[in-house]
Amino acid sequence: MTDIPPPAPPDGAPDWAAVQSEVVEHLQRLIRIVTVNPPGNELAAARYLDGVLTAAGIESRVLEPAPGRGAVVARLRGTGERAPVLLLAHTDVVGVEAAQWSVEPFGGVVRDGYVYGRGAIDDKGMLAANLVTMLLLRRHVAAGGTLRRDVVLVANADEEAGGELGMAWLLAHHPELVRAEFALNEGGRTRVVRGRPLYVAVQTAEKVPHVVTVTARGDGGHASVPLPGNPVFRLGRALAAIGGWRAPTAVTPTTRRFFAELARVWPERAEARAMADVAASDPARVRRGAAALRRVPTFDALLRAGVSAVMTRGGIRTNVIPTEATATLDVRTLPGQSIDALVARLRRVVDDPRVEIAVAERGRDAPSSDHASPMFRAIAEAARALDPRLVTVPYLSTGATDSAQLRAWGVPTFGVLPFPLTQDDEDRMHGHDERVPVEALLFGTRLIYEAVRRVAVA
Ligand SMILES: [Zn+2]
Repeated sequence: MTDIPPPAPPDGAPDWAAVQSEVVEHLQRLIRIVTVNPPGNELAAARYLDGVLTAAGIESRVLEPAPGRGAVVARLRGTGERAPVLLLAHTDVVGVEAAQWSVEPFGGVVRDGYVYGRGAIDDKGMLAANLVTMLLLRRHVAAGGTLRRDVVLVANADEEAGGELGMAWLLAHHPELVRAEFALNEGGRTRVVRGRPLYVAVQTAEKVPHVVTVTARGDGGHASVPLPGNPVFRLGRALAAIGGWRAPTAVTPTTRRFFAELARVWPERAEARAMADVAASDPARVRRGAAALRRVPTFDALLRAGVSAVMTRGGIRTNVIPTEATATLDVRTLPGQSIDALVARLRRVVDDPRVEIAVAERGRDAPSSDHASPMFRAIAEAARALDPRLVTVPYLSTGATDSAQLRAWGVPTFGVLPFPLTQDDEDRMHGHDERVPVEALLFGTRLIYEAVRRVAVA
């Protein structure tokens, strides 16, 4: 167990050097608890968190949605003047290709100023930052301070596999534990551009993920006799047509604001102008801006529904023409767009009656969280207090998180990735040598603590 620093005096700031060691150590310990999902085994991580919280005098409970799977819900009681704030994170991680790593992925190694390990960014870093925020607030209360609302830490299982045993389970079985005015979760960005933290993107909405199948049918037979209706070729033609099509540009209110504010600080002039164009009301400017931003796939993906081919299958042996071949598409619509309309459009693009396009899994649309919320403002103020140059912008993410479920259920949820990261470090998420700079880990912990303090400390 880490050495617990002495409680801060009631009006004093925490000792951030001590907090840095504390959050690094919790992150190392969490990385060493292997929670690759599947199978998950998040119960061990849940017990660790529960032990730390309970030892600090924080009310905590472990829930078991299934054997070996575990969640923690811990609560610091406030006066009840306001409804609770939730601090969310997930304990499970994706798998690793260990041979591609330069360190042991579950070793919690600290090297050259970075904490390495699966989950360092997604999402054990934020889990450690949330945990330490709870401990700091607990010390504040112990020193005579008051909270005007409950602060609730939720550490969920199963996020990486869709959340059936995580957020969905919690909402179905213990809704009373997560009723809140608003929540903080993963899903945003704090981006270092050209060597300095430039912006905090707070995710207030996300694209809606769907699974769509493309099935080509035709006459099978012996491969020694080529057939014009070969379904593998037919599927190839259909995929070529889909791959050459782009969904029309659609600028959501969140994305308009995102680009309008980013344009003011973006260091590259041509891109800054393109961002300002996309955020303009003149359709010709929007078209021009969108065309220029096409070079940056992460920006282009914010401006339209996205279609990615992800799997193909068909055929049983090398000398047989099969009667069917199938591809799977990951399709992400913008909030409010109809997946059925998009699939109807893809059918016209393919224009082949022997190709069937169907929605296999339908995503859930959720309302956007309001960037005028006190929670959003608190994040922006906290970011400015830590670095006056940082701008905070609302952000529609292309990735999906648990937040959609919570938003749909009625809790406005704000996604952050509070650690200032370069694009290179951010791209290691779900990749090899995932790592977080120790300095960024402390910054993120302070950002979460300062934001929560602003909404919760009386
Ligand atoms: Zn995650």
